[in-house]
Amino acid sequence: MRPIHWLAVAALVAAAASPAAAAVRLTYAMDGAPTAVFWPPSAFPIAYAVDQRVIDKFGVSTVERAFDAWTAVPGANVSFKAAGVVSGSRAGKDGVNSVTLADDLFKNQGFIAVTTNWYDGSGEISEADIQIDPSLGNGNYNVQEAIEHEVGHLLGLDHSGVLTSVMYPYICKTASTDLDPDDEIAIANLYPKHDPTLSGATFEGQVVGNSGGVFAAQVVAIDDDGQPVATALTDAGGDFTMQGVPAGKYRIYAEPLDGPVQPGNFAGVWRNASVTSFPTQFADGGALQVDAGKVYGNLVVNTSGAPVTLNPKWIGTAPASTADFSLNSTAVTLVPGQTVAVALGGDGFTGGMTTFEVLNPGVQRVSDFHYASNFVYANFRVAANAPAGSATVLAHSGNESATLTGAVRIVGSDVGRTRVASR
Ligand SMILES: [Zn+2]
Repeated sequence: MRPIHWLAVAALVAAAASPAAAAVRLTYAMDGAPTAVFWPPSAFPIAYAVDQRVIDKFGVSTVERAFDAWTAVPGANVSFKAAGVVSGSRAGKDGVNSVTLADDLFKNQGFIAVTTNWYDGSGEISEADIQIDPSLGNGNYNVQEAIEHEVGHLLGLDHSGVLTSVMYPYICKTASTDLDPDDEIAIANLYPKHDPTLSGATFEGQVVGNSGGVFAAQVVAIDDDGQPVATALTDAGGDFTMQGVPAGKYRIYAEPLDGPVQPGNFAGVWRNASVTSFPTQFADGGALQVDAGKVYGNLVVNTSGAPVTLNPKWIGTAPASTADFSLNSTAVTLVPGQTVAVALGGDGFTGGMTTFEVLNPGVQRVSDFHYASNFVYANFRVAANAPAGSATVLAHSGNESATLTGAVRIVGSDVGRTRVASR
């Protein structure tokens, strides 16, 4: 079996509406049962060969750092072994895991990298090849982050709907090479160094709608800082499980996969889910203070009600009190101490009515909202002590609410800000 996993370029507002999705495992129907793929313990350290042309174009250290990002996750038992540089190496099932150039394979298709996994009927992976389009080097993308993303697929991860995560399916120049908590928890659960039911908390529950369990809803646990720490997708019965969640205080919400990440961004079992429109809903019962080693079950997110139209898909920043926005479906970076104009756009945005907030206690709105055709913007002040990390943006319109999960990244104040790539 030979599924492939694409990394697409960031979609612009001007482009056709692009879908959005959580790091879940690559899961395929085998003998009718959803089966997640994995490397067996004996496969580690996983050996990989790199095509000389990849080294020439991107540098050996870029490739090594991309693999090392995953081995550095504290709770994950992942290791790699460089198997040398190979001239003229080609992708294909040959017993060698390889990183090669794709030679215009993806020309004009909007894809810049792809990973192919081979696995047996039990889901055990025997080989994986990464192919990179030469256009990845054209300056519009963060090359290391893009290769990290493909290494995530090589290891058996599917995409994430968290915009700041490495497993988010779209990339831009300002993408961070830091793994998000969602990436780290996903890989630590796949190759645990410690039993995740003991090293973290477990959340179990169900997302229900008008006709019972909702399939392929994205469930997100956010901490006190508004950071999406862990995500999951619901199964065919609407059930979800999150494991290895660090001790802390969390609120849990569910959102539909209705863009920017959609079911079509996933492989296997979630791919053909039909999207049910529902407002972002928080789990009954409010915030939970959780401890490692405990199970928090029977969490119910009730999404039933009328279909909604509000659906944020794009975000952008501009100098305070200006409106020179380039809206993307990729995360924006905010710097502590900064006052900046933030714009949010998407479907169902209504002039004079739609508003939004950044769920980080250090980010406060300091102007009225202004309205454009399909987006709304305001000035926001980022406190000098704003908690660093990813944060979810929550939009409101009338009685509807909807999230863009991890749409903002707050960095340390010593990090320079770069404009989001426009292309
Ligand atoms: Zn991908």
